[in-house]
Amino acid sequence: MSTIKVQNFINGKFCDSEKYLDSFDPSTGEVWAKIPDSTVVNVEAAVSAAKNAFPGWSATPVQERSKVMMKIADLLESRLEEFAVLESRDQGKPVWLARTVDIPRAVYNFRFFATCALHDLNRSNQMQAVDAFNYTIKMPVGVAGLISPWNLPMYLLTFKLAPAIIAGNTVVAKPSEMTSVTAWKLAEIFNTAGLPPGVINFVFGYGPTAGEAIVRHPGVPIVSFTGGTVTAVKLRIAAAPFSKKLSLELGGKNPGVIFDNADMEKCIVTTIRSSFINQGEICLCTSRLYVQRGVYKTFVDKFVQEAKKLVVGDPKAEGVFMGALISKEHLAKVKGYVDIARQEGASILCGEEDLNLPAENKNGYFMRPTVITDVKDTSRLMTEEIFGPVVCIVPFDTTDEVIERANAVKYGLAATVWSTDVTTLHRVSQKLHAGTVWANCWLVRDLNMPFGGMKESGTGRESAKDSIEFFTEEKTICVKL
Ligand code: NDP
Repeated sequence: MSTIKVQNFINGKFCDSEKYLDSFDPSTGEVWAKIPDSTVVNVEAAVSAAKNAFPGWSATPVQERSKVMMKIADLLESRLEEFAVLESRDQGKPVWLARTVDIPRAVYNFRFFATCALHDLNRSNQMQAVDAFNYTIKMPVGVAGLISPWNLPMYLLTFKLAPAIIAGNTVVAKPSEMTSVTAWKLAEIFNTAGLPPGVINFVFGYGPTAGEAIVRHPGVPIVSFTGGTVTAVKLRIAAAPFSKKLSLELGGKNPGVIFDNADMEKCIVTTIRSSFINQGEICLCTSRLYVQRGVYKTFVDKFVQEAKKLVVGDPKAEGVFMGALISKEHLAKVKGYVDIARQEGASILCGEEDLNLPAENKNGYFMRPTVITDVKDTSRLMTEEIFGPVVCIVPFDTTDEVIERANAVKYGLAATVWSTDVTTLHRVSQKLHAGTVWANCWLVRDLNMPFGGMKESGTGRESAKDSIEFFTEEKTICVKL
């Protein structure tokens, strides 16, 4: 198959770049696309296009903006299978997962935000004592810089694009250089849907060059970033001199707390999914399981038995649960944590069995679901984000003890609690340091509810409405009668 050449998308046109990077298909280890290695020059052109498009787009009535976005959603939906296959090759995830979760969710993001903003109201207040009247109006901020990671390429990119443009902003976006192909294809849809040139611009390339050039650009007053906690610190420093508006959705080290009285059957099925889906490369995946002593052995035995059954292999094949990890480097990093487990004398209960891969996948970045026990709470396995299919299971005795242990990390993104006692569910959920706690479930997302991390997992918990607010300036006008 020939190599795809990705181009930047600036002012409604696909443009060449001076230099290109290799993009690897994680399931074969082969170069399948060439990605622009964009520089400040490309970012400058994109910001300039977005600035020029801003007066027209921000003055377009929200109803018209909404119509264009609904058209984008329809067109994307009509090409669902094509996008699912592309995202799978970009990222390594099974095609079925992209087909049933990532691409439908990207469609939903455009539809949800397109309609959500239609029902927004301004505020007003009368001050009788001084005979004055206050009201607010809302305005877009300007050119928004959007920086997104590789793990859910379309899902997370569109979760930024949709609120930014419905609010009337124009955009310069930089997806992860490892998963740029789907975003590039999406740009074709923007033109067909009638999105005016310059409203959305894509600049592809590395974070420290293209990404940082967006963050440092004085013409970009607002930046929305999803990625690692370490990168976020660099972003904050780069943005600080400009007092930019920042939204940061960062990493996690999400605990699952399983009580003796949990519905074990449902808990195992969901916890296997929450630990290993998308190769464990979802910021919300559970990666440390605290299991109450009475069911600890039963849980571990059953969990390992189910983990061993999961099929890892060619993302295109039916029946495959896990595809390939994103890159050779990331696979080495994740495996490095298994080496740490070995050095620390922990028990590796599964994960090192033969992969039995088809010939074309022999050089892909695959790894089996890995379950580790006999780990200390202070181990790096229990405190650092691994972002792969590795789960540690440890026993606990009391409720107070497990809350303290689960909270003893710098992250606070998500948690799960499993119990059939409703009081336990509420008490524990309220005390866990996590922006979202799922009780007897996982990844049940209502876009109307706030989402985001506590502690070093991010700033600001946003509902869909809050995301539109983030991309909006609200001004108060006070009229003395
Ligand atoms: P990174 O932080 O490495 O990268 C995220 C994005 O930032 C990429 O587009 C990257 O570009 C870019 N970037 C890197 N350095 C800079 C810089 N100096 N200035 C500007 N941009 C930069 O994260 P990953 O892509 O590895 O994604 C995984 C991380 O994302 C995990 O920690 C995960 O938990 C987190 N995440 C959080 C979510 C949440 O909602 N809280 C959701 C999904 C993921 P490039 O790739 O080209 O380097």
